[in-house]
Amino acid sequence: MSSRRNFLQKITASAIALQIPDFVLGAPEDASPQEPYEGPVLRVAIMGLGSYGNRVAGAMQSSQKAKLVGAISGTPSKLRDWQSKYGIPEKNCYNYENFDALKDNPDIDAVYIITPNALHKDQAIRVANAGKHVICEKPMSINAKDGQAMIDACKKNNVKLLVGYRMHFEPKTLEIIRRRKEGELGKVLFFQGLCGFIIGDPTQWRLKKELAGGGAMMDIGIYAINGARYMIGEEPIWVTAQETKTNPEKFKPGVDETIQFQLGFPSGAVASCLSTYSLNNLDRFFLNGDKGFAEMLPSTGYGPIKARTNKGELDYPHVTHQTVQMDEMAGIILEGKKPIVPVDGEEGLKDLKIIDAIFLAVKTGKKVPLKL
Ligand code: NAD
Repeated sequence: MSSRRNFLQKITASAIALQIPDFVLGAPEDASPQEPYEGPVLRVAIMGLGSYGNRVAGAMQSSQKAKLVGAISGTPSKLRDWQSKYGIPEKNCYNYENFDALKDNPDIDAVYIITPNALHKDQAIRVANAGKHVICEKPMSINAKDGQAMIDACKKNNVKLLVGYRMHFEPKTLEIIRRRKEGELGKVLFFQGLCGFIIGDPTQWRLKKELAGGGAMMDIGIYAINGARYMIGEEPIWVTAQETKTNPEKFKPGVDETIQFQLGFPSGAVASCLSTYSLNNLDRFFLNGDKGFAEMLPSTGYGPIKARTNKGELDYPHVTHQTVQMDEMAGIILEGKKPIVPVDGEEGLKDLKIIDAIFLAVKTGKKVPLKL
């Protein structure tokens, strides 16, 4: 018997009771083909046709509820490639100068912003002013003030703002959250989040403060911050942080190479985290309570994610994160669905407030209180 069927048999009854989302279950391999989807479809334009934009576009081809219909780029040849690859009509293609004209295009519902971090704020505000829903990559922007401005613009224009937190829809992540909520781990007192990779090309935007807003913390450390919050299930009330820099030539002032940080939570739980651009194979979450533990290794990469608890390994099937994310985001935008872990602007803002506080803690060497 396939592990998928095994898995389905094991969890179907409890899933019904516990409302595990449909995408975790999917259809069994030997089930008759699913009915064609005839519900509402979110028509999406992607802004920024770089490495991650291409990944999302590819994954969206398998989404049922989200369809790639437009593209925004400063490079005409990329637009031509996407037009022929994804059947995007000329009238749905824009550049960074003229995309405000989206307001006159009734065939696009939402724009997914996948550009360098520091550009997100102005781009999101322009998209919102054009009356389109905004999906924005993480980090939502480069500080809490800019994040708040994005939220305000989306509210003013009555459009939704979602942040590309793909792990919030990842089945093993959700199962560990469910078990923690059900009390299987007992009283949780400790989380460890280790997030990093060795960054290559020293000339790339990720190593320029004016485009990245920082260094590893904005890019990869944010997974540990966000993970600490959804794994522990509380909002932190203080942060301490220490920075280490071994290569000041590559990591200029304002671009963090490695930061260790600690978050304190109201229950007394603490998170101890590492964010770095100087170590590979660093992608681990560990959650410990007085009755059990959960480990995810890898915890936030594109997958397959691996997870185990003191009771054994979780054998959920791998899903393409961005396919599921786009289906679920379409449900949130078009049908008002509520995700298990939020992905809205307020959620993105909380992470930005923590990042602001981490940078302040590094600078002052002091414990910084947090009010999220
Ligand atoms: P990338 O460099 O591969 O692509 C960035 C795109 O933005 C390019 O097409 C580039 O031409 C365009 N661009 C527009 N204006 C630019 C400017 N002034 N300078 C430089 N490039 C400009 O980067 P990426 O890896 O696709 O990252 C883009 C965003 O996606 C970032 O915010 C990043 O944090 C996020 N991201 C998220 C995930 C995830 O798993 N959620 C993964 C990778 C990247």
